[in-house]
Amino acid sequence: MAFEGLTERLQNAISKLRRKGKVSEADVREVMREIRLALLEADVNFQVVKDFVKTVRERAIGAEVLESLTPAQQIVKIVNDELTKVMGQEAVELAQAPKIPTIVMMVGLQGAGKTTTLGKLALKLKNEQKARPLLIAGDIYRPAAIDQLKIIGKNIDVPVFSLGTDISPVEIVRQGLAFAQEKKNDYVLIDTAGRLQVDEKLMNELAEIKQLAQPNEILLTVDAMTGQNAVDVAKGFNEQLDVTGIVLTKLDGDTRGGAALSIRAVTGKPIKFIGQGEKMTDLDVFYPDRMASRILGMGDMLTLIEKAQQDFDQKKADEMQEKMRENTFDFNDFIDQMTQVQKMGPMEDVIKMIPGMANNPALKNLKVDPKDIEHLKAIVFSMTEKERTEPDVLNPSRRRRIAAGSGRPVQEVNRMIKQFNQMKKMMSKFSKGNFSGMEGMLGN
Ligand code: GDP
Repeated sequence: MAFEGLTERLQNAISKLRRKGKVSEADVREVMREIRLALLEADVNFQVVKDFVKTVRERAIGAEVLESLTPAQQIVKIVNDELTKVMGQEAVELAQAPKIPTIVMMVGLQGAGKTTTLGKLALKLKNEQKARPLLIAGDIYRPAAIDQLKIIGKNIDVPVFSLGTDISPVEIVRQGLAFAQEKKNDYVLIDTAGRLQVDEKLMNELAEIKQLAQPNEILLTVDAMTGQNAVDVAKGFNEQLDVTGIVLTKLDGDTRGGAALSIRAVTGKPIKFIGQGEKMTDLDVFYPDRMASRILGMGDMLTLIEKAQQDFDQKKADEMQEKMRENTFDFNDFIDQMTQVQKMGPMEDVIKMIPGMANNPALKNLKVDPKDIEHLKAIVFSMTEKERTEPDVLNPSRRRRIAAGSGRPVQEVNRMIKQFNQMKKMMSKFSKGNFSGMEGMLGN
């Protein structure tokens, strides 16, 4: 999970205020010193840190916090607001051409994740907009790049236009665009060559492609794991090509968060997407507010809900919400939920998106064995319909019978019923709009 170190340090810094009833200006300054160190250690750009700390400190000292009865919560709110601002405030959508096709040119250093991201983007457009994208293989220098794009295209069932490696990229793009016109593709996604570092020859070639293709969007892919280096690369590319947006890849492996927090402020260009894994579905729209709460360890409920909705059909999701609200969630729903959640990815990742869970030390090395989930299911399958829909009837003798039926120890049955009840309580709380997670985070 991304940003572990930063989340932990920010929480530690802020939690010191929790123990104080009333805070003084000196307390705020002390917390801000710690926040400053936490950000610098997370490899956030120096100037960005300086401006951030100044703004937060001024807001905090200016009455908002000092006079508050809940100073720690107030600071969390201010830090959350300002983190959101630093990352761009609002999500910025992919540009659209007034008439088809919308042309997206993908640029970035070798290994940043351009080719993979193009595939992910094509799939996203296809799934979410029923679009008919065309991929153009314009990276003729890295020998495997064309084959890689072709394999990706085949996997996601998106056509790839390629003329091999002997023709100049500009010519490939010219012919590719003509091909897209003819086939009436609504998006053209151009893969370009990368280098190990920003160099003049590469930039000239990219400028030529830009000149020819007149893209609606020039997306720069940068590897979040490279921290400030990613920010420097973005600055370099932006100066030469005036990019329109940034894709931060490998956020799943980024424990520090420096690039995510600096790149918008340094380049002035929005982060449009984030890559969070190697699978073709691991590309998400970047929402600054959600990222801010995630950095603060307040979970990422909205992403979680959205992920759930991708897999759920809407009717089922509405039903489930209704049940959560009415508190009539039962063991049949529990099994349904388990099955849906399993589709969303490894359970431990899903759990960590829940507010207050991200940095729960008890979950640090959490690994959920899929076998455990099968055991839970076995227990529910050994219940009668009445027991599933009216869990209150589960007295000790019924529990013993269920244990025998499922082949699981009775302690496990007891534990699972207890967890079910806790989950039910939590759900009813969430469904009433209480996602604050701050209480959890502050340990109240
Ligand atoms: P390119 O040279 O810029 O085209 O980079 P590639 O698309 O070939 O990606 C380089 C490596 O990074 C590949 O192994 C990808 O699977 C991997 N990669 C790309 N995006 C992500 C991501 O968001 N998360 C993770 N974990 N790996 C990624």
